[in-house]
Amino acid sequence: ARVHVLHLSSSDALPLIRAARAEGVRLTVETCPHYLTLTAEEVPDGASEFKCCPPIREAANQDLLWEALADGTIDCVVTDHSPSTADLKTDDFATAWGGISGLQLSLSAVWTEARKRGHGLEDVVRWMSTQTAALVGLGQKGAIEAGRDADFAVLAPDETFTVDPAGLQHRNRVTAYAGRTLYGVVKSTWLRGERIVADGEFTDPKGTLLSRPR
Ligand SMILES: [Zn+2]
Repeated sequence: ARVHVLHLSSSDALPLIRAARAEGVRLTVETCPHYLTLTAEEVPDGASEFKCCPPIREAANQDLLWEALADGTIDCVVTDHSPSTADLKTDDFATAWGGISGLQLSLSAVWTEARKRGHGLEDVVRWMSTQTAALVGLGQKGAIEAGRDADFAVLAPDETFTVDPAGLQHRNRVTAYAGRTLYGVVKSTWLRGERIVADGEFTDPKGTLLSRPR
């Protein structure tokens, strides 16, 4: 069978995954920005904006996820953007909405942690674009190349910003990243050759449903 492990959070699964790979199982694995950048130790009591499924785990677990990314055990980092209205994020962890919305912050959050751990921007691009597009079979995405869609994020990698929920473009501005200072400021965004965001302002955001060739 063809297997994809989604939202890998626990490093306990890594030995099983490595063993299955070694046996030739057709296996791919993703993790998410929140598992790579947030730790259980720093989640304040009742702060359910950090609640997601599976949960955010300890710093020691996170170190092992980064090792697995570096050695290719984990193929890609996907957003798992899971928005909710503020009222569903109550201070009761048992019943609060489970999910973190991080689409707008994912690139900067992952890049901030990656550079701290000695990885290059090209590694982040591989994890967050190249291998993600390849996994889902979107041949027009994932590389800057003649014949592909001209999608670009123009990033100032050494500039920082502090996350202010009020400044997010998400409809529901609940975020586990509030107050964090992140590296990597997106200066403009291009979609199929058209500039859709410049200096934080949307100029002409037009989405298209993507389907892969059958
Ligand atoms: Zn999910």
